[in-house]
Formats: sequence, C-alpha cells, structure tokens
Amino acid sequence: MKPYVYVTRKLPENIIQTLETFANVGMWESEEEPVPRRILIKEAEKADALLTMLSDKIDAEIFQVSKQLKVVANLAVGFDNIDIEQATKQGITICNTPDVLTDTTADLAFSLMLMVGRRLFESAELVKNGEWKSWSPLFMAGTDVHHKTLGIVGMGSIGEALAKRAMGFDMRILYHNRHRKIEIEHKLGVEYRTFDELVTESDYVVCLTPLTEETKGMFTKAVFQRMKKSAFFINVARGAIVVEEDLLQALREGEIAGAGLDVFQTEPIDSNHPLLQLKNVVALPHIGSASIETRTAMMELCCENIEAVLNNRKPIAVVNEELKSR
Ligand code: NAP
Repeated sequence: MKPYVYVTRKLPENIIQTLETFANVGMWESEEEPVPRRILIKEAEKADALLTMLSDKIDAEIFQVSKQLKVVANLAVGFDNIDIEQATKQGITICNTPDVLTDTTADLAFSLMLMVGRRLFESAELVKNGEWKSWSPLFMAGTDVHHKTLGIVGMGSIGEALAKRAMGFDMRILYHNRHRKIEIEHKLGVEYRTFDELVTESDYVVCLTPLTEETKGMFTKAVFQRMKKSAFFINVARGAIVVEEDLLQALREGEIAGAGLDVFQTEPIDSNHPLLQLKNVVALPHIGSASIETRTAMMELCCENIEAVLNNRKPIAVVNEELKSR
C-alpha cells in the first residue's frame, strides 16, 4: 500500500499530483485558514509524512500521537515551529527548503532597506491619498542607501546574497555571526564585527539569523539605544528575535530612524498594533520568499524530500543533524 502524506494547506494541483505518484494524499482544503489543531493531530496519528507550513506548531504532542510518521517537510527554511529534539528522539526526519529561497528573500530585504530609507511606501501612499500638493526642496526627502554602512546580523545564505546586492550600491558591509567566515570576507570584502560594534557602526542593521534560544529577544532596548539615531532596523528573520515593545519605544523616542519589518511576534499582526501607526515603519505580511517561482521551487523541494525519506534515501535538505548520516 502507498504511504499517506498529509498536507496542511491547500497547494496547487500539480504539486499534489507529484505527491500522488508515490503516496496517497490528504490535504487541508483552505488556502487562507491554517489547519485546526484537532484535525492536525488526527492526521498526524496516521500519516507517514507531513508537509507543513511555518504557521503550524509541530510540537511534542504531534510527534507523540504519530504512529508511523517518518518525515516532516516544512515549507520554509526556518524550522522554529517544530520540536526538533522530540522528532530526533523518535527518529523522525525534519526537512526544510534552504537555498531555493535565498535570492528572493535577499531581494525583499534589500527592498525594505530602500523602502524605509527612501520613504517609498510613505511617498506612494501620499500620492494615492491625494496629498501631493506641490514640490519643495526637502519634500519626502529620505536617506540614501548607496555608500552607507550595512550591518548584517546572520551572514548565512540570505546574508551573503544581501551582501552581493549591497556591493552594487557601493555600501560598506559589516557582518556578525557566531563564527567568522574568512573566505566570504575575502570574496565579498565584508568586515567582521562583534554584535555591539555592528549595531553601533551601521546605517542599516538587517537581522537574518534563525530564531533559536540564543537569538530570541536579541534586539532589546539597549541594542536600539546603541544604534545611530539616523539608522534603520530591518527584520526579515523571525519576529521573536526582537523585543517588539522595545522596538516600538525606540521608534517613538527617536532612538532609531525607522524600521522595515517582514516578520512579527504574532502573525498576522493586529491592524491596531501601535507599530503600524508609525509613519517610519514599513510592515509586510511575511512575504520574504513569496514569488511564484520560489514558492513553487519550495513546494517541489518538499515533495522531493518526502519522497526520498519514504524510499529510504537521503533527502536534499535535512534539519536534524543526528539523522543526517543514516
Ligand atoms: P542560514 O544560511 O542558516 O544562515 C543563518 C546565519 O545566522 C548563519 O550564518 C549563522 O552563523 C547565523 N547565526 C545563527 N545563530 C546566530 C547567533 N546566535 N548570533 C549571530 N548569528 C547567528 O539561514 P538562511 O537561509 O540565511 O536564513 C536565515 C533565516 O531567515 C531563517 O532561519 C528564517 O528564519 C529567516 N527567513 C525568513 C524569510 C521570510 O519570509 N521573511 C524567508 C527565508 C528565511 P553562525 O552559525 O556562525 O552563528
């Protein structure tokens, strides 16, 4: 009998057809609404594989009820929504979608820098609202991006792709990781800094680390106070890396000049959230990897990962290291 794959959100027909070449497929039929918890639990009990979204909480309870689950393929590079420890304990492989989304996400990070620096969103809204009355020398004047200092916190795949884009804008590029990348320093001409040095020196601080116990709440009031008053903060990683109340306070009190945010502590963010009332905040609905090409590639990679594990082959992208060598 074919294995059973449960997909937690409605995906395009061609992706389902790919899964059906090697499995029986069940799917939550809504594009908008996440699968209800009780249905997810019921499906996890009998599934051999789950194809999940970053909005699904795949915790110990899900793994414990599962009777034959072998693989969870998450449609994201981040996997902070999954209890990796429990999965590994039970021998369940966790897969993600690195690399295929790198350039698209870097494009978005750079767009946010331009949007907040050059006040693009504010300007576009003003025109549409009929508030463009005249031209004047400093009308909607923003801050340059070219020749400024970019600080990348988390110089991984997306960080490197962002650095390449910044080179085209003649930016000076600083980075911070737990480990130095000497080869990348030579290749891209980027300079290593401690976290404190980076936030102090940069005009644009871009967060691109994974959400982990170590990075949770990494950007606090003290960090924003260390930044230049003219600097911008961009978050394309995960909302919980930032203490949102501290960011709000820093923006209100002019500790920093503005923020470009693709991710939030709670998603979707409430439209009454005080951050959204600020003119110098550009907020996007977690669309870092959202191009048709990239989302399609991510879905295809999920299918390949699932197929490999169900056929006892090594998948392309495994998260739980301990299982990698099997
Ligand atoms: P990656 O290649 O694994 O890079 C992550 C980088 O973060 C690594 O260079 C790592 O270097 C660094 N890092 C990890 N922990 C750190 C810490 N405590 N302090 C400083 N640096 C740390 O991952 P990626 O593909 O670039 O993706 C990065 C993150 O972006 C993902 O985890 C995901 O959450 C987010 N993302 C968001 C979107 C979106 O739609 N907004 C899309 C894609 C990805 P060291 O190990 O040397 O510290």
